[in-house]
Amino acid sequence: MKNHNLFVTLREAFPAELDAVAVETADTPEPLHYTWRDLERGTAMIANLLDSLDLPAGSRIAAQVDKSVEALMLYLAVLRAGHVYLPLNTAYQAGEIEYFVGNAEPAVVVCTKRNFGWVGPIAFAAGVQHVYTLDDDRSGSLLERAAWHGDVHRPAVAQPDDLAVIVYTSGTTGRSKGAMLTHENLRSNALVLKDCWGWRSAAEGGDVLIHALPIFHVHGLFVAIHGALLNGSKMIWFARFDPKAVVARLPEATVFMGVPTLYVRMLGEAALTRAQCAHMRLFVSGSAPLLIETFDAWRERTGHTILERYGMSETVMLTSNPYRPESARRGGTVGLPLPGVQLRVRDDKGQPVPSGEVGGIQVKGPNVFKGYWRMPEKTADEFTDDLWFKTGDVGRFDADGYVTIVGRSKDLVITGGYNVYPAEVEALINELPGVAESAVVGVPHPDFGEGVIAVVVPRPGAALDGAAIVAAMKGRIANYKVPKQVFVVPELPRNQMGKVQKNLLREQHQRLFQPA
Ligand code: AMP
Repeated sequence: MKNHNLFVTLREAFPAELDAVAVETADTPEPLHYTWRDLERGTAMIANLLDSLDLPAGSRIAAQVDKSVEALMLYLAVLRAGHVYLPLNTAYQAGEIEYFVGNAEPAVVVCTKRNFGWVGPIAFAAGVQHVYTLDDDRSGSLLERAAWHGDVHRPAVAQPDDLAVIVYTSGTTGRSKGAMLTHENLRSNALVLKDCWGWRSAAEGGDVLIHALPIFHVHGLFVAIHGALLNGSKMIWFARFDPKAVVARLPEATVFMGVPTLYVRMLGEAALTRAQCAHMRLFVSGSAPLLIETFDAWRERTGHTILERYGMSETVMLTSNPYRPESARRGGTVGLPLPGVQLRVRDDKGQPVPSGEVGGIQVKGPNVFKGYWRMPEKTADEFTDDLWFKTGDVGRFDADGYVTIVGRSKDLVITGGYNVYPAEVEALINELPGVAESAVVGVPHPDFGEGVIAVVVPRPGAALDGAAIVAAMKGRIANYKVPKQVFVVPELPRNQMGKVQKNLLREQHQRLFQPA
């Protein structure tokens, strides 16, 4: 019987030379070199530890740990042992952890030593039997226990539809939901990306990935890690993103993946030059919209065109700009649906919209998740009757099939009964002289239901005036779209994945139009 365990697919791709370096750490006190054999043995030992606990297959193993190669091994070991990995953002506080532990009912929780004092009691109170610690200096009870176990392990047999990971969505509206991803969701997507992005075999010179993203999220955990492992490619491993240090390592690498903020910060480094990037093959961006200014500035400075792709926790990757020819990568778009992924645009009533017009993006494919953990109603709400997943993103197809994301449907502002897409207004504001970027949101308004406002960041050295921006917008777009007020701020609030936290902006200004 074929074993559909994702770990097996990844391990089959390990190079024959098991003593070659698989991961080299870039920001530990001394560089550490982990061979493919180390990954094989380390994951076997942790998987044997998990087996020794006699957990039912498919038990949830939650981890809120700092980024380290051992944390990567924990993820792989959970797959290997046939359990379900539950990565938790290191920024989560007690109330959030209590919710996740209560909702997911993990059998095992792994946390840092510094958080054990509060994570432990929360987990034990919720009935979790096993709480281990893991720190980014290769210490903690998880590794101490695993050290007692053998380094040979037969991977658990998994069916394609078995759960591999539950990723909790960031939950900017309402409770965070656990997206259930199967072995086949992750495997099929990883294989498609390997093909589409031209990962090079060892015979073609191989690839080296700079990994500088967090590993509790789709981008760093799946797209980047699966990409490298499935190609038997070495990773240069940054526990924290540091633009100077990453730029310094580019000559040793061929692939880099980042959220837009990382590209902006690297552009701030004088050492980022064409020569420094000469060895690079591919720069990928995603998780949040890449500004066209960044896309252009990167090409100008490095000679490379950033490849932007689009995906989400519930679906892994959905679209990508073409790998070849490089000139076919279009800034401001997220490219074309990946092979095997179907994508359509629908209006509020579920009817098709003509190409070029904006609507809700719906998708289907082997990559689309199984549903939200223990939320059957919520799951049913997010799928159409003919089983397309409603992404909640608003976008359009252009005539030759490229997809542009215009925003989130929940970001849509309805003012006086008219729909305003923030991205349209933001694009116009961003064209004004001296504007670096902007965020448009709706806040409660006594007459209009919601009132449009904008928060604008000036370019370095530019002085902006909110009232002048309002005046400049008048006559350029319908009056109901013109922000009623514009705030000038030094920077927009963003989360670790580079997404603008519009919920914070809405909260901050929610009383703006309310009578005193
Ligand atoms: P997450 O589930 O945290 O990965 O967030 C997924 C959401 O990020 C998507 O639904 C989009 O709204 C947004 N997103 C991801 N990639 C892009 C992109 N390239 N451009 C614009 N938005 C993106």
